[in-house]
Amino acid sequence: MAAVIGHPVAHSLSPSIHNAAFRSLGLDWVYVALDVPEGQVPQAIAGVRSLGVAGLSVTMPHKSEVARHMDRLTADAELLGAVNCVQRVGDELVGDNTDGEGFLRSLRADGAFEPQGHSCVVLGAGGAARAVIVALARAGAAEVVVVNRDQTRAEAAAALAGPSGRVAGLEAVREATLIVNATPVGMGADWRTIPFDPSSIHGRQVIADLVYEPRQTSLVRAARERGAVAINGLGMLVQQAAVAFERWTGREAPVGLMARVAGSQLG
Ligand code: NAP
Repeated sequence: MAAVIGHPVAHSLSPSIHNAAFRSLGLDWVYVALDVPEGQVPQAIAGVRSLGVAGLSVTMPHKSEVARHMDRLTADAELLGAVNCVQRVGDELVGDNTDGEGFLRSLRADGAFEPQGHSCVVLGAGGAARAVIVALARAGAAEVVVVNRDQTRAEAAAALAGPSGRVAGLEAVREATLIVNATPVGMGADWRTIPFDPSSIHGRQVIADLVYEPRQTSLVRAARERGAVAINGLGMLVQQAAVAFERWTGREAPVGLMARVAGSQLG
């Protein structure tokens, strides 16, 4: 059994994605969504231990608290102070953070882009931005420039990139090769909004919008109109699930199927 805990969690695409992947490989696994209210994380993790849950995904608002109840953390989870994937290794629960790896896999597979040696701008300094910043620095980006409303959070996030990290304003967008929107700007009812002036986008840039609802955000549309490569957040969502699937089962994830299922759930 695998599960996702969060609050709320009923909207999660993860059960459909993982159950389709289990079925397609003939694995005797099932994945369920479990609503865990705030304050109930210690009991939930005790349940994971005693019930022998083999794989656990963690979503908002529990990623930081779960990190405090693990036997071990991977280097990424330790650095980010956040866990989105728990793996059982023997009797131990190991907390990992697969967002950064999921992002890089999507950037390479969907955007055909390798960040090594390139200047990258990340808009936002929250949980998703921090995972992306660590991943870009580790992948050898020439610089990782953080643009955020709150400057204290921006400085802390940029520090995660080590010597390649710095903070700047929106003017940095024009000079970057890769621009990542890791804010919720453009999501849902806000779909008409673009997080920066799109006239600064040019055809040699790659735009990665982590928002996946709507599937084609206004930023993705504007970037494509200007000849840039643009990807949305669905690829990252699917790829971080694929990383979790591979950690739990030891099998290669059927990424194409998982992407089709996620896409059809979103409509
Ligand atoms: P978060 O921790 O709440 O951080 C949100 C960040 O966005 C903060 O830095 C915040 O700035 C900034 N922000 C919020 N509203 C803004 C606005 N109106 N204008 C400018 N900046 C604004 O959220 P998160 O978990 O990192 O998620 C961020 C986005 O990534 C969401 O759209 C989420 O759906 C998406 N996401 C996608 C995936 C995926 O797999 N595709 C995974 C995780 C997240 P301040 O610090 O100044 O408040």
